[in-house]
Amino acid sequence: MPDVQTVQGAVDAGELGTVLAHEHVRFRDEAVAAEWPGRYDEQAELDAALVAVTAARSFGVQTIVDPTAMFGGRDVRFMKRVADETGVRIVACTGIYSYDYLPHYFENRDVDVMAEHFISDLQHGIQGTDIRAAFLKCAADAPGVTEHVEKIHRAVARASVQTGAPIMAHSMPAVGTGPRQVEIFAEEGVDLARVQIAHCGDTDDVGYIEGLIDRGVYVGLDRYGLEMFLPIDKRNATAAELLRRGHAERLMISQDYCATIDWFPPEAEQVFESQGAIRKWSMTLVFEEVIPALREQQVMDDETFNTIFVENPRRWLTA
Ligand SMILES: [Zn+2]
Repeated sequence: MPDVQTVQGAVDAGELGTVLAHEHVRFRDEAVAAEWPGRYDEQAELDAALVAVTAARSFGVQTIVDPTAMFGGRDVRFMKRVADETGVRIVACTGIYSYDYLPHYFENRDVDVMAEHFISDLQHGIQGTDIRAAFLKCAADAPGVTEHVEKIHRAVARASVQTGAPIMAHSMPAVGTGPRQVEIFAEEGVDLARVQIAHCGDTDDVGYIEGLIDRGVYVGLDRYGLEMFLPIDKRNATAAELLRRGHAERLMISQDYCATIDWFPPEAEQVFESQGAIRKWSMTLVFEEVIPALREQQVMDDETFNTIFVENPRRWLTA
């Protein structure tokens, strides 16, 4: 099988094993962290990442796809420490995570120059290391596919066409960004079988999700535990219906868990949990509650599990 780049170097795709397709070992604003490093406790962040990833490993997870890109505080040295200390492989990306904002640096350079930056991460290494990105990341959220968001999508698409690297696109079903994102990739000539539209599981509109699957992309049912977007029962009902309709080969199931995230003050997590905005959000919820529930509904057996957690991520990463 072809190689896949991880933060510990290239591995044979056949060795990826059970994969969580969308988790973050740390998520923080890199500008704030660079300007006020004293506000962050790197040891506590590392400890939280080790706890989360070790817990996932106890359920058989061998590889984590971490789509932390620019503006999410991507740090491949940190990722490698987590991988080295847990024995779980981490697959890193390149790209820009923005809902609209672009630095002047990229605003005043064209799409192809932006793509060159991504290609350098894919082919040579990230942040002065020889750790290479395995896939490309972009995002569209509440503001929709704005001019800047479209520019990032086109740069990601061109980098994919030139290198063969797959794409993961954060999407927001509530404002229906998915179809437009796929359209841009198609216009740029991307192989849609290498595209993963993340966060489709935030809606229970099976028709919307099926419309994307019909284009040939993977869809992420990847925010289990984030009840503020959709509660687990509705997420499971959506997953079950997609499985009944025969779409196992297009689904990624994950949690979009952030071992630490700086978006809110530390006390907010407990408030969110008590208000029901999040529930048991972790790197293990899908194994503790989702798989058992889907097995009970008789839409998940060992073969389906293998398709979703082993074969799909491997196929998406390698074609
Ligand atoms: Zn994410």
